Amino acid sequence: MRRAVIVGAGVAGLAAALRLGRDGWDTVVVERAPARRHGGYIVNLLGPGYDAAERLGLLPALAERDLGLFTTVLTHADGRPKLTVPAEVAAAALGGRAVSVFRGDLESVLHDAVRDRADLRYGTTVLDSAGDSAGDSAGDEVVLSDGTTVTADLVVGADGLHSATRAAVFGDGHRVDLPYVVAAFPLAHAAPEPSATTFIGRGRTAALIDLGPNRSCAFFAYRCEHPLEALAKGPVDALTAVFGDLGGGVPDALRHLGHDPAGAYFDAVSQVVMPRWSSGRTVLLGDAAWCVTVFAGHGAGLALAGADRLGAALRDHGTDTAALAQWEADLRPAVVRRQAQARRGMLQYAPPTRFHVWLGDLMIRAFTLPGVRGLVRRAAARS
Ligand SMILES: Cc1cc2nc3c(=O)[nH]c(=O)nc-3n(C[C@H](O)[C@H](O)[C@H](O)COP(=O)(O)OP(=O)(O)OC[C@H]3O[C@@H](n4cnc5c(N)ncnc54)[C@H](O)[C@@H]3O)c2cc1C
Repeated sequence: MRRAVIVGAGVAGLAAALRLGRDGWDTVVVERAPARRHGGYIVNLLGPGYDAAERLGLLPALAERDLGLFTTVLTHADGRPKLTVPAEVAAAALGGRAVSVFRGDLESVLHDAVRDRADLRYGTTVLDSAGDSAGDSAGDEVVLSDGTTVTADLVVGADGLHSATRAAVFGDGHRVDLPYVVAAFPLAHAAPEPSATTFIGRGRTAALIDLGPNRSCAFFAYRCEHPLEALAKGPVDALTAVFGDLGGGVPDALRHLGHDPAGAYFDAVSQVVMPRWSSGRTVLLGDAAWCVTVFAGHGAGLALAGADRLGAALRDHGTDTAALAQWEADLRPAVVRRQAQARRGMLQYAPPTRFHVWLGDLMIRAFTLPGVRGLVRRAAARS
């Protein structure tokens, strides 16, 4: 039996454990966090991400957690409604084969699917990994922080944007830092009726989704010239400084954040651009290899698709080196496309001028017209 050590139990790591486990691999998953991490915003799985979820057998469990489609109200800074975007607009953009879930729920579904077939070790990380770069020896010796050493045929670095595996094997310098900060955190259910509101202003977006108990969360994104200084302040102070003037549900959301700032996802925005995703027996997967950013969307979908196709390539090709090369050639075009899309996303989430805000509103208004909706549906189906 071949053994893989997977670093990181996020979407990419758990999906890799699921896929490789099904193909007969013995998998050890090490996760630095002491327990499962529930946070995060909504992820839409469509296209390759949806196909991968289907192949991995996740769709029935995801369907139970599907947020469905909902009407969103675009607001002014003081919370007054500006424009209503009916659920049908999202339906047209997402197409028929799509599911929308909280990131934490996707992670839960993966965790449930994999926990009986993988050796999951929370509060554990890799201290050292020694192997020959050609992969000729019997396996890489991976020294773990729990005091054990595991011999691995494959080391999967699925440890996210700030990947230590990437730094150890490929060195520094593969992150392209962008001048933005994002935050997402769960909200207490507050609204008597389901509601979703979004404020988009110059350089910033605040979105509040309240679809009922355990189905509520907040998302903030803003342009910031010094993201590291913002991160050092912590989410409460940083977000209050930028969004404290807004009305509607924002003050309540920020108050709620004050009760559990550690539960928030709060990070700078960076892409990861690498000439190769593997070296010897080590392969990077998900954000560690190709982070596309929240502005591009599809980060979780690409992590699922990447894991599923990695398993398929390792099953179908004679040697691991050939498999990894084929896997990368197959996946890279989709990643490059999504990374390029992030630029459009930046204009959408953090419009640089009032003119861009106005233009964005105009486009959203156009999408609400039934004729244009048909065009959107056809464009989404084509892409
Ligand atoms: C709590 C959380 C909330 C998120 N919320 C959002 C969001 O709202 N919007 C958005 O666009 N993206 C969010 N992301 C990122 C999003 O999940 C990813 O872009 C996407 O799902 C790809 O997942 P990934 O598994 O490659 O990376 P990640 O989801 O970042 O998972 C990486 C995992 O590796 C673990 N890890 C890191 N370093 C080590 C180490 N040295 N040893 C062991 N384990 C390690 C991390 O704790 C994490 O669990 C969030 C990530 C996390 C962890």
